[in-house]
Amino acid sequence: MSLTLSTDVLIVGGGIAGLWLNARLRANGYATLLLERESLGGGQSVKSQGIIHGGAKYALHGALSGASEAIADMPRRWREALDGSGELDLSGVRLLSDAHYLWSPGTLAGNLTSFFASKAVRGRVDQVKGEQLPPALQNPKFKGKVYRLAELVVDVPSLIARLADLAGDSLLAADAIEPLHEGGQLVGLRVDGREIRAQRIVLSAGRGNAGLLASLNVAQPSQQLRPLHMVMVKGPTLKPLYAHCLGGGPKPRITVTSHPGADGEWVWYLGGDLAEADGVARDEAAQIEAARKELSQLLPWVDLSTARWATLRVERAEPAQSGLVRPDNAFLSDQGALLVGWPTKLALAPDFADRVLSHLERDGIRPAVHPPLPELPRPVIGRTAWETSF
Ligand code: FAD
Repeated sequence: MSLTLSTDVLIVGGGIAGLWLNARLRANGYATLLLERESLGGGQSVKSQGIIHGGAKYALHGALSGASEAIADMPRRWREALDGSGELDLSGVRLLSDAHYLWSPGTLAGNLTSFFASKAVRGRVDQVKGEQLPPALQNPKFKGKVYRLAELVVDVPSLIARLADLAGDSLLAADAIEPLHEGGQLVGLRVDGREIRAQRIVLSAGRGNAGLLASLNVAQPSQQLRPLHMVMVKGPTLKPLYAHCLGGGPKPRITVTSHPGADGEWVWYLGGDLAEADGVARDEAAQIEAARKELSQLLPWVDLSTARWATLRVERAEPAQSGLVRPDNAFLSDQGALLVGWPTKLALAPDFADRVLSHLERDGIRPAVHPPLPELPRPVIGRTAWETSF
């Protein structure tokens, strides 16, 4: 077996960014190889809430910039892919909800005026009542207003599994990765003793990008990490709920998504302000207590007496921004044969792939002929936190 492989685009990191890009490149006729050190999707992607944002959350504080309105197109692109009529065939991926809801527990907050005027939500938000309410809110004791947003929620494990299928034979479980230089130029990577040559190398390794850049002796772009302390609650009384609950501030007080456990029970996965700075500072017991208090205030009719609780600490990896501001779009930086980036949101994976494809186009990189690949060790698919915690 030859220890030298060649391909058009060598991708490092098999989260949503790398897997989506890989599938798009293959659909466009490029030969690819994708290296994954741990498990596919097992970094941030399977720990995400799976919401395909259209930007509504960012419009809440009236701060949706022109650039960030690009996110408004993401639900359409995902919907078409999930229908099998889009840029990728994701038919068969489980859709958890075809809408995400915005739920105001009291009277409508003043900051919603700019929200309803923003392009990202105009004509895409409808108030729902009665039987149209999400099942968990259908209770006579429920007071407040609920709006339906045209945003999807996808089951990320089934998404990752489908993208792994679309990857065919291009996946490689990889451990030690070193640069492969020739004449002072980066021409590929040396991976566990194999040389892999490529026209372009894309680093889409999430928080792993920082270490990879250091091993390539490349200083930029620098990365920021923003921690979260998420809460999971599982129990037989839980009904599906996909909603941002509004508080007084710019961030949702709590963002709830619901995920099916293997035993048929639902897991509520709680983020939003609850999981940000104050939540990060709490230990597990205090964070569970804070979540329990929030749910009993907001949803007093839900019986949580037999529920089981756990928390998950996870960091969002993004390009460094001043003051740890959340970036608006997928980010890609190019340095000759090396491209490096972060999608910054699961929803923005199509935008990340667009950016790579337009670099290839700009640089005249076309699919070339390569010898067939030998059988390669394939990375496993990442498991969700609720599978491992309960
Ligand atoms: P990752 O999924 O982290 O993938 C990177 C991969 O690279 C990993 O598999 C890792 O093992 C691999 N890797 C690392 N180093 C190496 C190496 N040296 N060699 C080989 N492989 C390597 N976004 C949304 O749009 N909607 C949401 O609802 C949402 N909810 C979120 C909730 C939480 C709690 C968090 C933390 C994030 C959420 N996000 C959401 C953001 C979203 O999850 C991320 O932006 C996205 O998953 C990042 O994808 P990625 O492919 O860049 O990174």
